[in-house]
Amino acid sequence: MVSGGRIEQIRPLGPGRDAVEPVVLPGFHDSHIHLRAAAAARLSVDLSTSSSIPDLLASLRSRAGDFEGRWIRGWGWDESSLKERRAPTIAEIDSVTVDQPCVLHHRTGKLVILNSAAWRILAGPVSERDPISEPLRADEALLQKMPRQPEEALESALADLSGELAAAGVTSVTDATATNTWDDIARIDDWVRRGVVRQRVNALLAFDQVSAASGIEDGMPTHGTVRVLGAKVAAPADSITDRVRHVREYGWPVAIHATEPDELEAALEAISECGPPAWGRDRIEHLGLPLPGHLERIRAEGIAVTTNPAFVTERGQKYRELLSAVEQQWLYPLRSVLAQGIPLAAASDRPVTAATPLVTMAAAVHRRPRVGDAEPLGPEERVTPDEALSLVTDRAEVDGPAPDRRRGPGSSASDVHLNADLVVLSDDPRRLCEETGVLATFVGGRVIWGAQEAAE
Ligand SMILES: [Zn+2]
Repeated sequence: MVSGGRIEQIRPLGPGRDAVEPVVLPGFHDSHIHLRAAAAARLSVDLSTSSSIPDLLASLRSRAGDFEGRWIRGWGWDESSLKERRAPTIAEIDSVTVDQPCVLHHRTGKLVILNSAAWRILAGPVSERDPISEPLRADEALLQKMPRQPEEALESALADLSGELAAAGVTSVTDATATNTWDDIARIDDWVRRGVVRQRVNALLAFDQVSAASGIEDGMPTHGTVRVLGAKVAAPADSITDRVRHVREYGWPVAIHATEPDELEAALEAISECGPPAWGRDRIEHLGLPLPGHLERIRAEGIAVTTNPAFVTERGQKYRELLSAVEQQWLYPLRSVLAQGIPLAAASDRPVTAATPLVTMAAAVHRRPRVGDAEPLGPEERVTPDEALSLVTDRAEVDGPAPDRRRGPGSSASDVHLNADLVVLSDDPRRLCEETGVLATFVGGRVIWGAQEAAE
């Protein structure tokens, strides 16, 4: 029962309800997103739906006027979604942007293309280097000089993003950005305090920000409202060991980006060499393609996993083209991870996908797009609706113990409390009906989104 914006009474969720009726559940958690990048993507030309290079160029051309006197920003190009199966060239981009500087971010956030005007600004008019025709790595030093988005515009986009997450029932997120400094964490805390971000936020910190000065209270470092879960390591396989060693010198847990088998192998070797963290829990981010034996080692080291069920449904075509039939069976596993008893949580990786928790649940259960008649990718790795629900709600085991939360490890969907983080749905989400909607979302018992807002 909800009255005056507060939950008054809750009765447990029973198994297998038949009738369509509203249910109250623990709020959804998105365990790996990028707040700033997702906000910035909303201020950019959306290239993620472009199906060919002419299509992509047409989008840029039609939006160039919106960026007058500023850099044209595009986000979301992905060669695997383009008919030509390649990145646009600088000459192609110059043909529509002319003298206006332009930067195009890859959907994964890992690569960037600059046009000639942008290159001249960043590299200098008498650069020794010719414009590079290949996309640049996003961590290239040259790109640090790029102008940042105006903070005011970014905040407004962030508020919209947070509202969209609230409307999807998300009450907490983990910002997994690999470059997060302590200053970035302080900025997130400020956004939460001022209500720009309505969700609770956990964050990972860049590995090189961990030092003897990193304060730890109550067994886990916090910065104001933000809990820091560990250090993020996103690096080529041959740099992973050094970074994990650095973090472990101070006893911190690591969250290691591993979409590829060589990254996972390096991550497991490094963790095994360094021993367990002094607090919290190590995580593997994505777990894109574990090989036989990897899951047993993940379990043995006590590592948690965050996975992205929507990658399988949104990138099915790419995976079918690039991977062998056997590899397709190993891709983004769910069932076999749970069977090992490995703590597992699901994430959208926004802005990489915009999957809501309900969409994520459907992706985990079906492993194929909702529309179309594609075969499931890795059908053995499908999970039950109950398990899918746990991937978007039961985060305590993945995040490590939370001293200030009412829900501890071992709690379940039927064990919700007043003043907790809750979502009210129009129907039991385990029925996986597309029509199921979010009626209200509460953080700390206070409504952060309700049907009233939807009607406005
Ligand atoms: Zn990510």
